[in-house]
Amino acid sequence: MGIVVAKFGGTSVGSGERIQKAANSVVNEYMQGSKVVVVVSAINKTTDESIKLVKESIGDTVTSKQLAGILSMGEMQSVRIMAATIESLGVKSEYIDPFNEKWPVITDSDYLNAKIDREETKKRVQEHITKLINQGIIPVICGFLGKDLEGSVTTLGRGGSDVSAFLLGHCIDADEVVIVTDVKGVMSTDPRKLDNAEKLDKITVEEMVDLANYGAQVLHPNALRYKDPDIKAKIISFEYGDLRVHGTDIIGPAHPEDEVISIMKLNEKLSVIAVVGEDLMNKQGIIADITKKVSDNNIGIYGISTGESSITLFFEEKDAIKAHEVLHELVIGGDRLSSLSLGQKIAMISVVSHDFIDTPGIIASITKPLHENNINIVELSSSQTSVVVFVDWGDGDRAYELIRETLK
Ligand code: ADP
Ligand code: ASP
Ligand code: MG
Repeated sequence: MGIVVAKFGGTSVGSGERIQKAANSVVNEYMQGSKVVVVVSAINKTTDESIKLVKESIGDTVTSKQLAGILSMGEMQSVRIMAATIESLGVKSEYIDPFNEKWPVITDSDYLNAKIDREETKKRVQEHITKLINQGIIPVICGFLGKDLEGSVTTLGRGGSDVSAFLLGHCIDADEVVIVTDVKGVMSTDPRKLDNAEKLDKITVEEMVDLANYGAQVLHPNALRYKDPDIKAKIISFEYGDLRVHGTDIIGPAHPEDEVISIMKLNEKLSVIAVVGEDLMNKQGIIADITKKVSDNNIGIYGISTGESSITLFFEEKDAIKAHEVLHELVIGGDRLSSLSLGQKIAMISVVSHDFIDTPGIIASITKPLHENNINIVELSSSQTSVVVFVDWGDGDRAYELIRETLK
């Protein structure tokens, strides 16, 4: 039996009955031989209510430091209730808040969006929290909160207790992190927006990070930075009162590095095709027509980007002649597209990192060394977590090395 970090979100501790259910699930896991570390958020909408109260009472003059201190009260309350409920079930438990000398999560002084000091936190977890679980005590730790080097309370940003859970899991070398929330797992979309959303059995770290970065509230986008590939993780519903229930497993990451997850140059040569036409942005269904034509001919697309008057597509070189032929049929078969060109051989380099979303200038730092070395970028596309650069095939290896150098 191993170490389990269980995080309970606000709704999961939203009433006396729910707190009891949560505590029961923790105690059951403990009785089956696991060492359990509990992380709790503020009860229900406590954080939202505190923010509203501050707005009405103090307004804009509230300082970040004051607000962090006020918001921290939510988690300070819930850990006390949770630890006492666990004790009422006959197992020793200790709540840990930032004023406790055993508090592990150390951050900088950006009070409302604090950056974690990984090394210091790891040291403290191993010094204090590991000791507690080895003594058979269940620690209950405030999610969302940190402490800076001056001893002031900080917060990790809204929804930050997911970050606390994975951070503690990483530092304590947990076997599993269990996120207990108000949905059965990660769904095909937000079930509050579409009621036919379906639960997924599993999702990769990479998919989950993109989903979270684009707004899926179910997990904080920064949480999976601390997910080690060999630590199991899942999101489950509080309803069952059982930490062993199945929800959605989070698998990976495939590339376990702290900052840049991966820089990859595709082995295959690609070819680029540009299809042009007037005012393409306002012509509906053009992309659908193009991708259907290509997929009907069993050709895969490596990249696609759209502009006012052109759509650029990247294919494997071996498919290029066929793609050129079938797309030409589409161009001459209607009057919405005017012409197309089959261009040079292309290399594709993709960079995936959790840091893109909050690192201004990251794209510039990738493109600048290419520019300085006279490497022409044929196309560049980016999402919240990845940047894909297309260059001439002959420049591919050099570009790959330069990007690796700059992001090291
Ligand atoms: P907690 O308080 O437990 O941290 P949150 O409210 O932060 O819970 O996150 C859970 C909510 O995330 C769900 O109630 C749901 O509305 C929302 N959500 C958004 N996208 C998804 C998704 N793809 N799958 C599941 N839940 C989602
Ligand atoms: N209580 C905090 C919030 O509402 C943290 C969390 O719920 O994860 O943002
Ligand atoms: Mg949340």
